[in-house]
Amino acid sequence: MYHTVQDQPELTANTLDMGISTARFESQMKILARDYDPVTVDDVLAFLNGVGRLPRRPVAVTFDDGFADNAEIAAPIMERCGIRGAFYLTVGLIGTQDFPWYCRLRYAFRTTKRTEWRGLNGSLRGFGNPSDRESALQQAWDYCAALVGTECAKTVATVEKELAVMPLQSNIMMSWDQARRLRRAGHIVGSHTVWHPNLAYLPGEDALRELSESKKRLEEELSAPVLHFSYPHAALERHWTEKTVELSAQAGYQTATTTLSGPVVAGDSPLALRRIQPAEQEYRFRGVIDCTLCGLPNRFPSWAASPS
Ligand SMILES: [Zn+2]
Repeated sequence: MYHTVQDQPELTANTLDMGISTARFESQMKILARDYDPVTVDDVLAFLNGVGRLPRRPVAVTFDDGFADNAEIAAPIMERCGIRGAFYLTVGLIGTQDFPWYCRLRYAFRTTKRTEWRGLNGSLRGFGNPSDRESALQQAWDYCAALVGTECAKTVATVEKELAVMPLQSNIMMSWDQARRLRRAGHIVGSHTVWHPNLAYLPGEDALRELSESKKRLEEELSAPVLHFSYPHAALERHWTEKTVELSAQAGYQTATTTLSGPVVAGDSPLALRRIQPAEQEYRFRGVIDCTLCGLPNRFPSWAASPS
């Protein structure tokens, strides 16, 4: 489960904060190509449906959110290594200059010059030290993740205004041309909703709209069926339930990935697939995958939870 690959991820710590460097990513893809058996989410689906077998050391590569670097940096490296991945797009942001709302909040709380803020529940919060800011950010994430898109957008804009931070604008998200190119190159392009809410916290009809509208838009833009989905915003646990699994099936998806850590095993629901976070250092990267393939607990914990 990757999100973003950049030459210098430390430069975007106040916005993305979940990147891996290009050099490390390239070395990880070479390891997968040489020492493991790269498969796709389609292969995993065929295995779970009992119509396909998996090789001995199968690993599927996925990317959440739809950042432009996925198409510009990650995909060409994967293609040179013979790996085809799954890219789950936050559909409402594709082809726009906008940042995901949770990145905007991260930027606002980490860079504001304001020393206090009246929180979303009305209590006054001081920003005396970095941990105060992080705790306010966490509160704002949890609050906004449970809102429908229009309400979330309004709330984030209000927070930016209160914290006197200009909204971020740049070509950080993928364009539709880039998404189409990924598909043509043999990658899977799936949905990560329209707006990146936590579906488990939305009323059923709003959750279904996020699932269906993102699928429809992707299918129109890609001129192809879209069968794969990834549940957003795991920071507010939990981010999927039996109800969201039912809704994703109703919307017509055949697989859905979660951020629950672990392997996919026979008998799992294709609509609640486990994944693992790639650790940065090589021995940890191999360790996490090897533990997972052997069904052992992960002894190589990697990154802290972020609202992926
Ligand atoms: Zn995400």
